[in-house]
Formats: sequence, structure tokens, C-alpha cells
Amino acid sequence: MPSTLLLRNADMVVTMNEDRREIAGGGVFAQDNRIVAIGPSAELPQTADEVIDLAGHVLLPGLVNTHHHMFQSLTRAVPAAQDAELFGWLKALYPIWAGLTPDMVRVSSETAMAELVLSGCTTSSDHLYIYPNGVRLEDSLEAAAAIGLRFHAARGAMSLGESRGGLPPDSLVEDEAAILKETQRLIERHHDAGRFSMRRIVVAPCSPFSVSRDLMREAARLARAYGVSLHTHLAENDSDVAYSREMFGMSPADYAEDLGWVGPDVWHAHCVKLDEAGIRLFGRTRTGVAHCPCSNMRLASGIAPVRRMRCAGVAVGLGVDGSASNDGGHLLGEARQAMLLARVGHGPADMTARQALEIATRGGAAVLNRDDIGVLAPGMAADLVAFDLRTPGFAGAGHDPVAALVFCAPATVAWSVIDGRVVVREGRLATVDLPVLVERHNRLARRLVRGD
Ligand SMILES: [Zn+2]
Repeated sequence: MPSTLLLRNADMVVTMNEDRREIAGGGVFAQDNRIVAIGPSAELPQTADEVIDLAGHVLLPGLVNTHHHMFQSLTRAVPAAQDAELFGWLKALYPIWAGLTPDMVRVSSETAMAELVLSGCTTSSDHLYIYPNGVRLEDSLEAAAAIGLRFHAARGAMSLGESRGGLPPDSLVEDEAAILKETQRLIERHHDAGRFSMRRIVVAPCSPFSVSRDLMREAARLARAYGVSLHTHLAENDSDVAYSREMFGMSPADYAEDLGWVGPDVWHAHCVKLDEAGIRLFGRTRTGVAHCPCSNMRLASGIAPVRRMRCAGVAVGLGVDGSASNDGGHLLGEARQAMLLARVGHGPADMTARQALEIATRGGAAVLNRDDIGVLAPGMAADLVAFDLRTPGFAGAGHDPVAALVFCAPATVAWSVIDGRVVVREGRLATVDLPVLVERHNRLARRLVRGD
């Protein structure tokens, strides 16, 4: 027997469908892991195995996070890395990250995922690019399964150490043949290409300044042989662009094109300094971008040209980026910062609240190359989140409850359904014991940074 779930009486349902329909007094009826019906509550089935009344709530598609480094939750607010730009920040943290263990990756990933889910995220990617002391991608895959998060695990890698002109210390880089072999193993073992997939593998060398040209090319070849996506960092700040011009004699976008790193199966994090030709190239090739406003502000990288990218047809999603350069993992908060930062750069009409929510939902789905999430409609995955507006933070914002989600202070999600399963129930994460997890996480963070 299929199990059924009815969410009804929401003050507003935000569908994010083609005509951006919003339904007052609406709801969603789901069967197993997919949406069967959506509309005014009176027009939906009246019974289900579980019925959730959403009076006072806004219901919307689960938010999609397209860029993260979850292990960095262990190194938030580290004093030596608080006030530096990208390269200085990385150099302060590399030696600490060298002490990561499988247990630390597993626990920090689970903690970062819990934080994300409580902020409205139902699908996330994670870019794990550091593998000391026996760490494996399986450590983060297991965390996602424990939390119940829809997960795109990006197998990152660094192969170009300081002695060969790269940024990371030689002790932290891997052999390129071994990287490719391990990535192939992970795809064959774990990648689920099917509709409603909860687990996809992504091929993801870390950045132009930490891997070779050869590895970038071979990675693209490997990904395309298996039909999986490609992900890396690109054009993050001025130093990143200067490195590209000096080492490769071309702009980051031209470098990406030269390597075969453009197309709907590719997304790049940041692109703060993507030039006009790069924007046109990404638009033409449907290449995706993960916009990470908090990290860009924190590291003073600049303001990404989000509006110009979207006008050119570039798929843009949101990313909280690593927990050590944000240092938060609140995805609804990230949507708010995207709106605010766009306005600082280009005026108050540059991004509306609804556009910020669009980037956070269907934008992220497009970036991850998925057509089964990011929109509430029959046949889509049952990934839904509801925020309770009956709180002090939303008081007086009932004139436009949808815009209020972005204009008001970032709220914790009240209900989250992922793949048809209730993962957050009345503001509480149902899948893990959070106080125990956080205590364990903090113990490991102390051990990593201070050697306790
Ligand atoms: Zn990043």
C-alpha cells in the first residue's frame, strides 16, 4: 500500500511553477515520494495516512543548496583565518584541515546537514576536496543517509602542491591517477541517475589553483562517460583571475571552455569576477553558477553579477559555501543575503524577494541538472518546507507572507518533508539526536584545531 501525506490550509502555497502560481489557503497531497495534487485545500483529497494542518504557515518547495564544504563546520571563526582574503584564509586553514579524520568528516557533515535542513534545505551538494588520514566520500554519504537529505556528493580533489605552483601544501595533495580511479569507483558504487534520486556523485577537482590542466580535462572525460555532473570553483576574486591569467594566459571562463568545462552538466561556484564574454559563454552553453553571497562578503571577494548572468540565460543557484567562510549554513538566510547584496551593488530593483526564492528553489534544481525538484507540481518530488509566520520575527508582515520569508530575519523551518518523509516536525529534526550530535561535533572541533 502506498503511504499518503496531506498538507493543507497553508496561508499561502508558493509553487514556483512556470507561471509562478501562489495559492492562498492551499495544500499538497503526496503519495510515497511524489506530489499527486496541489491546489486550494477544498479541492484536495480530505484524508491521508498523515494530515498536517498548516494554518499560519507558508508552504514552498524545499530549498536547494548548490555549494558547500561541510567539514569546515569544524573550523568556524578560527582566529587566524578571520580577517583574510581567499588565498590567505586557505593558507591559514590547510594545516589544520590536514588533521581531519573519517569520524570528523562524518560528524561535521551530519551537523552541517542538520543546520541546513532546519533552514529549509531539502537537497544539498557537498564539495569534499580533502582526504587525509583515510577520509573517504562515504563518510559524507553516510551522514546524508542518516539525516534524510537529498544529496549530491562532489568528489573534490587537490593535486597541485606548492612545489609545483599550486596553493595547498604538498602534503595535502593526491596523485592524479588515484583521484580518477577513486572517483570512478564512487560513481559505479553510489551514483543513482534515476528520477527522485537521493544520491548522486559529482566529479569535482577543487579549483584552477589546486589541480592541473590534465586533471581537469580527464575529469570532464570521466564525468561525461558516466553522465554525471562536473563542479569546481571559478573566478572567485581578483587574485583568482590574476592566477588564471598568469598561469594559463587566459580568463577563468576561457580556461573553463578550453578544458571542456561548460555545458548544462557543469556548475561553477562563485563566478564573482566572470567577465562579459564569460557570462555570454555560460548563458549560451547553459553552464550553471552557485552564488554564495555570504562567503563573497566574508572574504571581501566582491559582488557576483547575478542579474546579468540570469538575463543571459545562466542557471544560477544559491550556495552557503563552506562553514568556515560564511560561517553559517542557513539557506533561507542566504537567499536574504543574495537579495541584499544585489541591492548594495545595483540598486533596490536588482533582486526581488520572489527572485531570491526562485534562485533558492528552481534555480538550484537547474544548476544540479534536475527536473524533479525545486517546483511544487504533480509528478515532482515531495520535497516541501513550511515556515510558521505566527512568530515575533514575522509580526506585522502578513501583507505579503511570501516576501516576508526573505525580508524578515531568517527563520527556522517548522516542517520539512524530503522524498515524502517528514524530516522536521514542528521545528524539531526527527532523524537525529541534535544535542548529542552537536556535543560530539564540538569535541572533535577542539581536537582538530587545538589538539585536545
Ligand atoms: Zn567553496
